[in-house]
Amino acid sequence: MTTSLKEKIIQEAARLGIDKIGFTTAEPFLELKEPIERQRAAGQNSGFEHQNIDERIYLEKTFENPQSIISIALAYPTKIHQEIPKDGKRGQFSRASWGTDYHFILRDKMQQLIQFIQEVAAAEGIENHWRLAPQVDTGELVDVAVAQRAGLGFVGRNGLLITEEFGSWVYLGEIVTNINFEPDAPGVFGCGECTRCIKACPTQAILPEGGLNAQVCLAYQTQTKGMMPEKFRKKISNVIYGCDICQLVCPYNQGKDFHFHEEMEPQVDEVAPLLQPMLTMTNAEFKKNFAHLAGSWRGKKPLQRNAIIALANLHDRSALEELYKVLANDVRPVLRGTAAWAIGQLIRKKSEERETALVYLQAALEVESDDEALAEINQAIEKIK
Ligand code: SF4
Ligand code: SF4
Repeated sequence: MTTSLKEKIIQEAARLGIDKIGFTTAEPFLELKEPIERQRAAGQNSGFEHQNIDERIYLEKTFENPQSIISIALAYPTKIHQEIPKDGKRGQFSRASWGTDYHFILRDKMQQLIQFIQEVAAAEGIENHWRLAPQVDTGELVDVAVAQRAGLGFVGRNGLLITEEFGSWVYLGEIVTNINFEPDAPGVFGCGECTRCIKACPTQAILPEGGLNAQVCLAYQTQTKGMMPEKFRKKISNVIYGCDICQLVCPYNQGKDFHFHEEMEPQVDEVAPLLQPMLTMTNAEFKKNFAHLAGSWRGKKPLQRNAIIALANLHDRSALEELYKVLANDVRPVLRGTAAWAIGQLIRKKSEERETALVYLQAALEVESDDEALAEINQAIEKIK
């Protein structure tokens, strides 16, 4: 019975626009225990992941009588086909944040698949005790490990799931169920001797012995809410959310650019936004322009902080007026401090702007009460005086 059901699910998945699907058992992911514990003990986890390690390994901790996991992948685009206007300095969102937040897209596809399975049960008069629980990367399970075991691909040295057809440009979701499906053969590690991602990572976040130091990964650093440590600021360049470097260099990703899903289409002004207007955007503007992107899940502040850093990295001296406004008026110390740093980066020592910048920085110094912002203002004054 379940073999034919599996075939029907595969066909329906294709009809729904699910680009890859695989099935695996509900056996515990014992191989993850040691790496997760080691990463945590070394303080190299991001803190964004599910905190209960046992729940990440043993399915029965969160689901009664699990039997199988259905793993799905949706391929996402990697190139913007619209022309990017040259009307000012622009930032970039990483590709996993293009279009509608993938959590919604995946959940919708999985809900449709679950509904189909329930309808099959009803049509065949099966007394329906089937239970199906969808998850995306905010759930307990490690989605790349599930996908590898379900045969969608393999986990590369960069920690990402690499598929043959779409490279690592895929969103992953999984459905835990009490239906017992025939499992597919797991993916086979395919990195060989390649170490391109390790060499290309600007912060050495990919550990040569395996695993990731998420604390120094730029994708994580762009999502924090406090001051970004200075050593990472130049390294983000103009990327205000995420980092794609270890995917861009991967040989499996070369030439891959799939535009299968309308809702993932990147809009230039959203995913490569003009940076200066972001500095003083209102909550309503943020909501309208960015809130539907995956890269907005931490709110407005990290994006604004990163936009300030990006303007400094792009040497955009025309942003100085906006930066002075942030320094003088913004109620958030992180933005005032980052603006002070950016001013320090943008002002050349013998330039005419120097006196004006010093006036603003001195004025800010007199009223600033936040220690971190004060330190940034003092450093900026030192740098340009
Ligand atoms: S996302 Fe960027 S910083 Fe993080 S591991 Fe990959 S290349 Fe390194
Ligand atoms: S760049 Fe090379 S080592 Fe890194 S994930 Fe891709 S194939 Fe593996």
